Amino acid sequence: MTNPFQTLSYEPALESLGNEFFDIVQPATFPQHILHFRNDALLPVLGLKSEAASNRHFIEFFGRFQGTQSCLALRYHGHQFGQYNPYLGDGRGFLYGQVRGVDGHLYDFGTKGSGTTPHSHAKDGRLSLKGAVREALAGEILHYLGVPTSRCLSLIETGEDLQRDDEPSPARSAVMVRQSRSHIRFGTFERLDYYDRPDLIKALLDFAIACYYPELWKEPNPYPLFYTELVKRVAQLVGRWMAIGFCHGVLNTDNMSIVGEGFDYGPYAFIETYNPYFTAASFDRLGRYSYRNQPNACRWNLEMLQRPLSKVMPLSEMAAILESFPEFYTQAYEGMLLKKLGFLTLPPSSARDLVGTTLEFLLITRINYHQFFDALKQKFSKHWYHNSTHIVEDLSPLVSGEQQSILKNWCEFYHWILGKHTLEEIEQIEQQLWAYNPTVTVANSAIEIIWEAIDRENDWQPFNSFLQRLRHPNPKNE
Ligand code: AMP
Ligand code: MG
Repeated sequence: MTNPFQTLSYEPALESLGNEFFDIVQPATFPQHILHFRNDALLPVLGLKSEAASNRHFIEFFGRFQGTQSCLALRYHGHQFGQYNPYLGDGRGFLYGQVRGVDGHLYDFGTKGSGTTPHSHAKDGRLSLKGAVREALAGEILHYLGVPTSRCLSLIETGEDLQRDDEPSPARSAVMVRQSRSHIRFGTFERLDYYDRPDLIKALLDFAIACYYPELWKEPNPYPLFYTELVKRVAQLVGRWMAIGFCHGVLNTDNMSIVGEGFDYGPYAFIETYNPYFTAASFDRLGRYSYRNQPNACRWNLEMLQRPLSKVMPLSEMAAILESFPEFYTQAYEGMLLKKLGFLTLPPSSARDLVGTTLEFLLITRINYHQFFDALKQKFSKHWYHNSTHIVEDLSPLVSGEQQSILKNWCEFYHWILGKHTLEEIEQIEQQLWAYNPTVTVANSAIEIIWEAIDRENDWQPFNSFLQRLRHPNPKNE
């Protein structure tokens, strides 16, 4: 029987741009192929039914790479921790086909851990199993929390022993395939500028707009519109990360997608308390990508992108567009935070006050960021509408004795906001709380526990049950 992944609607999209953009490479051959995760939720958009794809199909296609697609190691550079690095590129992965989804969008299959390429620079081209598990979890968590992201389609353990500086070694190996909207990075454009190729910058930009922003392609001058839309999407992306307490860890320009989707999750982490200085990557000693610096880092990356794009459109125009970043960001951040607090909309001044009061409360009390929202969701009741003492009583276990008065202030404010709604609306607030706050604990310790079970006992049950619970965020309505 033909492998159903072989018969998808592939398009030679990026390949059609010519070989200036990639190197054709050979996948590694592995001693073992154990499929640990297949993301069936991603199959419908590809036009596939779960039953049509067996585990063997996954392994043949995404572990042995027995497809007819070319393996394109993409060329890119980037600014890493502020320094330009021309020695980047797909060093352990390749673009393995672009598929037209049933929704009309183009999707990339991008591998990670699939062998060396001309960009590996003495590294092994491999991915550790822990790295694969962590990236798979990040994609699913972010997706189910409503944040645009690449997602893991397939995770296969490959039976090699890896030497790693940041993990106990030998470490188990894996190859994963991520499905994403695009693998074109800000750094893909930066590289073309480094080689002084305005012709290729224009070709790539035209391609990106036609492919990923088709509605803008019809406009008489799509370039500034593209930059505006990208600024907006990136601001929204980082606004949502901030609201859910996500810290990407390595916001280099080579990890920034041209469609404003998050991807490439290495040392990411979730904040525990509302600590603006929290950093996810141990090697980020100066805190360049700390939690609070993420919006600025993304804004800076958008500024770096202006250099190559200035070969196609005026720099001053882009600079003016970027001025709107803070506004887009604040809108997205506050909007998401309000949803986590139960509100789809509030009058602007109440919204600002509630966000401000809540952040101050979280900062001073240092209570667990996720537990706070979880408690709000779990304990919320109609009684809260009538009397703020019910709120205080329900939430008081969250804080210590001396912090009760700070809690009381916050509860009174929340009660005042509730009082501006009708009883009917109170029910909707409860529903928002359940819809926008995860049922699973998204703490680093939870991810570590999942990994430890795999590491020590090869027990994948915690991993699978976590994903299962993540997909059903609202047990109250079940
Ligand atoms: P990352 O930190 O994963 O975004 O990777 C930064 C750069 O290092 C990219 O060019 C990667 O392809 C490359 N790289 C990271 N790990 C490896 C590895 N084990 N083998 C080859 N290249 C790697
Ligand atoms: Mg990267």
